[in-house]
Amino acid sequence: MPEPILEVRDLAKLYPLTRGIVVRKQVGAIRAVDTVSFDLMRGETLGVVGESGCGKSTLAKLLVNLERPTSGRIRFKGQDITELSGRALKAVRRNIQMVFQDPYTSLNPRMTVGDIIGEPYDIHPEVAPKGDRRRRVQELLDVVGLNPEYINRYPHQFSGGQRQRIGIARGLALNPEIIICDEPVSALDVSVQAQVINLMDRLQDEFRLSYVFIAHDLSVVRHISDRVAVMYLGRFAETGTEEQIYAYPTHPYTQALLSAVPVPDPELRELRERILLSGDVPSPADPPSGCRFRTRCWKAQEICALETPPLAVPERAAAAGGPAAHPSACHFAEEKPAVVPTGGG
Ligand code: ADP
Ligand code: MG
Repeated sequence: MPEPILEVRDLAKLYPLTRGIVVRKQVGAIRAVDTVSFDLMRGETLGVVGESGCGKSTLAKLLVNLERPTSGRIRFKGQDITELSGRALKAVRRNIQMVFQDPYTSLNPRMTVGDIIGEPYDIHPEVAPKGDRRRRVQELLDVVGLNPEYINRYPHQFSGGQRQRIGIARGLALNPEIIICDEPVSALDVSVQAQVINLMDRLQDEFRLSYVFIAHDLSVVRHISDRVAVMYLGRFAETGTEEQIYAYPTHPYTQALLSAVPVPDPELRELRERILLSGDVPSPADPPSGCRFRTRCWKAQEICALETPPLAVPERAAAAGGPAAHPSACHFAEEKPAVVPTGGG
């Protein structure tokens, strides 16, 4: 059995909600990430999908140690990294890097591309000694498909797609084993998105990387993900392989998201039932009791307000086997084969 490279257990991040200017009083908490668990295997891509505000960026920051969890555990190759500090933390951080969402704001406009990509070596000079840096940065430019001669240029001299390539080169600088990609293509034109995703796909094979790939749209992560987690209000609603999630979703929220994915084929489009969700996403400062999705769910009954459905394989599906047998946090999880275009993203 292969061992997971990352094990996440009951991870939670609460931000205090305060009131008052002179005396700040805590009046509650924003439950940005609330008991999330998953394993990431070496070389695997886990796609994480959910609407804006559901906690994706907070999860990403927890995984790269930019934020400390309120509770829960993150193990990297078996070692609990949530309580590390000093040198031990630095060593682990090197191995888990992040690629940010917006290449327009995440790159310092006053630094050259060479300084941006080489900056991680200031903190980890052992990876690239001073005399070797320039050569390494040029190598990285080449690896992400940019001309190594661009090393002295500034971010504004590049297009959005090129800037994200620079962000990716920086993410690769320290030879990490895991890259957490927080909506890496959301700010890019659709025509450029596929190029950047293809690049990341190729880099994954070349450097044996494991990815957590975050997006707000199911169609974006399909092509690159081995497994997908659908997130709603700080929790995972459903997890499964690409086939299980896209062709045999059992959670009403996943079914609703999939019904909104554009279908180019008119015949398929005819077959499809469009599910329109009512209402807005509730506030993470005051989430609904029981199932968090129940206030927008057409299947909701009394039990949904009283009992939180665990993220588990539904009993009936487990007994029957087949592609519907995958974890789904719904009291009434039921297979509903989705009408989605197949092949490619
Ligand atoms: P996403 O990336 O899915 O859009 P985020 O993780 O950015 O979601 O945010 C999840 C929730 O946590 C939101 O309600 C957001 O307002 C809140 N939040 C995020 N960061 C902070 C913070 N530093 N302080 C307080 N609330 C925060
Ligand atoms: Mg975000």
